[in-house]
Amino acid sequence: MDSKKQNNLELDTPIQFVKGVGPARAKASAELGIHTLYDMLEYFPRDYNFMPSPVKIDQLKPNRVATVIGLVEQTDFNRFGRPPIFKAAIADDTGICQLIWFHGAYVQKMLEPGKTIMVSGKPAVYKNRLQFTNPKFIVIESPADDPDPDVLAGAVYPASAKLSSRQIKNIIHKNIDKFPDLIKEYYDRDFLKKNELIDRAKAFKWIHDPKDDRQLAQAKRRLKHDELFLMQLGIALRRYKHRHFSPATPFKCTDAVDSRIRKRFPFLLTEDQNNVINQIVEDLAKPVPANRLLQGDVGSGKTVVALYAALLAVANKTQAAIMAPTEILANQHFISIERYLKNSKVKRTLITGGITGKKRTELLKQISSGQIDIVVGTIALVQEDIEFKNLGLVVIDEQHKFGVHQRAKLRKDHCPHCLVMTATPIPRTLTMTAFGDLDVSTIKNPPPGRGKVVTRWVQPHDRDAAYDFIRQRLKAKKQAYFVYPRIDAESDEKQTDLKAAIQEHKVLSRKIFPEFRVALLHGQMNSEKKNETMRQFRSKKIDILVSTIVIEVGLDVPNATIMVIENANNFGLAQLHQLRGRIGRGQSNSYCLLFADTENEAAISRLEIMTRSNDGFEISEHDLKLRGPGELFSARQHGLPDLKLANIIDDFELLNLARINAFELVKNDPTLSKPQHKNIRSTLIKKFGDKIGLADIA
Ligand code: ADP
Ligand code: MG
Repeated sequence: MDSKKQNNLELDTPIQFVKGVGPARAKASAELGIHTLYDMLEYFPRDYNFMPSPVKIDQLKPNRVATVIGLVEQTDFNRFGRPPIFKAAIADDTGICQLIWFHGAYVQKMLEPGKTIMVSGKPAVYKNRLQFTNPKFIVIESPADDPDPDVLAGAVYPASAKLSSRQIKNIIHKNIDKFPDLIKEYYDRDFLKKNELIDRAKAFKWIHDPKDDRQLAQAKRRLKHDELFLMQLGIALRRYKHRHFSPATPFKCTDAVDSRIRKRFPFLLTEDQNNVINQIVEDLAKPVPANRLLQGDVGSGKTVVALYAALLAVANKTQAAIMAPTEILANQHFISIERYLKNSKVKRTLITGGITGKKRTELLKQISSGQIDIVVGTIALVQEDIEFKNLGLVVIDEQHKFGVHQRAKLRKDHCPHCLVMTATPIPRTLTMTAFGDLDVSTIKNPPPGRGKVVTRWVQPHDRDAAYDFIRQRLKAKKQAYFVYPRIDAESDEKQTDLKAAIQEHKVLSRKIFPEFRVALLHGQMNSEKKNETMRQFRSKKIDILVSTIVIEVGLDVPNATIMVIENANNFGLAQLHQLRGRIGRGQSNSYCLLFADTENEAAISRLEIMTRSNDGFEISEHDLKLRGPGELFSARQHGLPDLKLANIIDDFELLNLARINAFELVKNDPTLSKPQHKNIRSTLIKKFGDKIGLADIA
């Protein structure tokens, strides 16, 4: 070992030069991802045993956890017992006690009379004697060995064949008294007290070597706070940079402009819409680019809000782009915008892949010369080939296809205000992390006068009754969607029993509903045919639209009040909720019938949540819990450090606290250059590198 290095131990000292580690263990450590002393400190235990130091057998008390060391005097294995039982008696110089293991075949292989063992557990009185049931134990090879009472106690590390948990523990313990010198505090006393946090060096000591649950809990709280705090600091700094280094056109919203815009809508805006508009107007009035997420369930009235913002941009002599993920949706946005803008002087255009040749060249010219005020199109299209004269606002309707990268790409070319709309309610946990650099506005309540949406899980034996019910509604001139999990059973190579739209379309139109007009819509049809089918459905020339999840995105037909989802157990919660958003858009009640034959517990709990709740936020919180945070939120994907201890669902309160603390810090010291923030700053640069631009700020 290099003693000079040992003396100036630093957090980034290579693990090989740390006390207790030589070349061989360094190699084994590297395989576990441990390269420096700091990696070792952050190599957290996966579990703990809280075991007291050994006592003599005559000191044992019933129902108190204790450890004893004794000589195995006698064993007995009843392999035919139910369950098989292994018994042993051990003795020390003060007495004898009994041990019993149910399913004890594994113990039989390890114990025999004459061996010395250390046993830990909670003895209880059985037939007037003290007996341990299923105790933890280790065999002490030779009674002369000085048994290490820690063997059954303390931290348990994720280990490998080359480096055991015990060896890791030893390395940590050999260095533990240097923690206070090595680990620098981030905060002052007042901050720690106010937030009920212990100091950082102590937290590292206690997480590796807690005396009890209380110390462990305090250590975890502190270290989780720091992880979340550093993440939020990254977000806060990114936001600060965005706001202070990229100028945008501030929009004025006079009363005259406001009332001119409102006259465009044939209804009064709801309270939620007004609140959200106020927030947006406030954003747009600033000379820095707005970056706001507008969320609200399908049909909650977001398009109106987006149009308000677009018209405000136009009133301020800039252009607005409204972008949708698909051509169908772009089309639909354009239709509804046209409805509101009839006879308006505002110049607007729809630009899709179908517009080609001279017409396209002409349109692009008008956009780049500023003759056109509002451009509606697909996200891909607008990003690819359109040059604006003075783009002031971009509205991105992402529905559920939330693409962080697409937003980033657009922002590089221009510096417009940005409003992102989503119909997937994003749980608070995610608006604070994955979408943490966006401001969030929410429309909770839909416009008045909507019918209820009733959701039922239909089991196989109720299928005919459900068909009868649907028939009645269709006779009353309502329309229905039938949604299937796949398109074509014949071309599909996967062997499944899942129903397919093409085949079921035949069954429905010929056998079940021959008296009604049944049409097919799916993603493999060309877009002309698709648009034609949608038009016919909208104008009630079609009664039943058979489809796949393509209709998930954006169809708006208020007269369609029935939705059947086949093999509903095969859809995710967010998907089911999105699909259901197609109905309930008119005044009459709507019905969502989930056809499902399943005993799968996860599927059943999804179906139950759907029948119980229409609240998108409640559903997305459930979704997050059912799927776990990992699937929806990967810190790395968002340029944030990974979380080792904290979890954004279970530690939501700490996340909240850390966020407040981080944003407060950036507000007071946006470059983290005050001397008291030195330690945070250097940690941050180490963790993020130049990803958050702290280096540029410096
Ligand atoms: P979203 O974009 O959130 O799905 P839309 O803006 O398309 O919702 O609105 C859904 C329907 O509600 C549209 O038909 C629209 O005309 C209507 N609507 C929107 N706002 C109001 C309102 N304040 N009062 C009455 N109807 C409204
Ligand atoms: Mg919409």
